[in-house]
Amino acid sequence: MPQSIHNDQHKDLRDGVRDLCKNFPGSYWRELDQTRAYPEAFVKALTDAGYLAALIPEEYGGAGLGVTEASIIMEEINRSGANAGACHAQMYTMGTVLRHGSEAQKREYLPRIASGDLRLQAFGVSEPTTGSDTTQLKTIAVRKGDKYVIRGQKIWISRAEHSDLLLLIVRTTPIAEVKKRTDGLSVLLIDMREAVGHGLTIRPIRTMMNHATTELFFDDLEVPVSTLIGEEGKGFRYLIDGLNAERILIAAECVGDGRWFIDRATKYANERVVFNRPIGQNQGVQFPIARAHVNVEAADLMRIRAAEMFDRGEPCGAEANMAKLLAADASWEAANVAVQTHGGFGFAEDYDIERKFRETKLYQVAPISTNMILAYVAEHVLGLPRSY
Ligand SMILES: Cc1cc2nc3c(=O)[nH]c(=O)nc-3n(C[C@H](O)[C@H](O)[C@H](O)COP(=O)(O)OP(=O)(O)OC[C@H]3O[C@@H](n4cnc5c(N)ncnc54)[C@H](O)[C@@H]3O)c2cc1C
Repeated sequence: MPQSIHNDQHKDLRDGVRDLCKNFPGSYWRELDQTRAYPEAFVKALTDAGYLAALIPEEYGGAGLGVTEASIIMEEINRSGANAGACHAQMYTMGTVLRHGSEAQKREYLPRIASGDLRLQAFGVSEPTTGSDTTQLKTIAVRKGDKYVIRGQKIWISRAEHSDLLLLIVRTTPIAEVKKRTDGLSVLLIDMREAVGHGLTIRPIRTMMNHATTELFFDDLEVPVSTLIGEEGKGFRYLIDGLNAERILIAAECVGDGRWFIDRATKYANERVVFNRPIGQNQGVQFPIARAHVNVEAADLMRIRAAEMFDRGEPCGAEANMAKLLAADASWEAANVAVQTHGGFGFAEDYDIERKFRETKLYQVAPISTNMILAYVAEHVLGLPRSY
């Protein structure tokens, strides 16, 4: 069974996550998928076992592990047939508070996030009119005394209905008044329990998979100035600082998905007999599975490299982005192969293939689309002219 990153601690971690996930079989995820319900029991079990606090330092009540270990947790969740999309944001969103929050903010929030008393599952960047061009975002926060007044709209903000806290990116200085378009953005940590009904409205968006994503409307929401993380106007840099961890964790989820699809396709190709032979005996069936496996394993190597560089504190923007692109492409290829191998049964809900197929497609677009990674590599790794 392919498995990356070997040592005893990692084996224990994998075994622990696998055991937990066994309590949440395909039937659990299918039922939630049909009703578009949030996997409350699964997220609670992960939280209670401490897995979602993997990256929170021990002094704040977490496990103090690295991104390598956090990525193993995400990989094993997806590899079990589950979907880490229900809870992954807490791992990387928390990093902004950890790296740039004041000591008082860290003491206030991190231990309660680690224990599960508070959920920080929502991360508000995307807007309907600006898309991938983040610096053009239009949600503004105007300072009035000891408050910020927030006005604007966000879209695709996932898990907002299931999170207590929202890490929100806003413009605090109009773009016309800054030297660089990356200046003048700020990060606020908002308690949504107080905000909903007082200037914040959450509207769910139904999507092709069960992702609990929403639209947020800010109509002069007033929040205390103490919600500001770090320095006013430096939010874009804080955002960028968190992206490498995000890319690596998502890459690991894709590797988990890819391995799940390949396991399923291989098993079915061995068992399904048509024309008096297992379908997997035909090269036309086995080669695509083998190729998908090769690509998942290659993507995993880049994910391991990126994770290890991250944990050594080395710059890893190129590796993290490349890992995300390779892994998302590999899981999508494996998803297509799994459907094809299953023939008609690939479309049947009971097999879970079609559900995972819909779920893994997201990674071609979110949290960053494949084209934007290629643009990053072209410009920042190869020195080609900026294309946008
Ligand atoms: C289910 C779901 C959950 C999400 N969760 C969150 C969340 O929790 N928080 C959050 O902030 N956001 C979230 N997002 C938003 C996600 O990050 C964006 O959808 C993604 O970054 C792409 O932005 P966009 O949809 O505006 O696409 P656009 O920017 O409009 O792009 C559309 C297409 O055009 C391509 N494109 C655009 N510009 C260029 C260019 N210059 N060169 C080449 N190609 C280009 C893109 O690659 C893409 O394929 C989520 C999205 C989805 C669908």
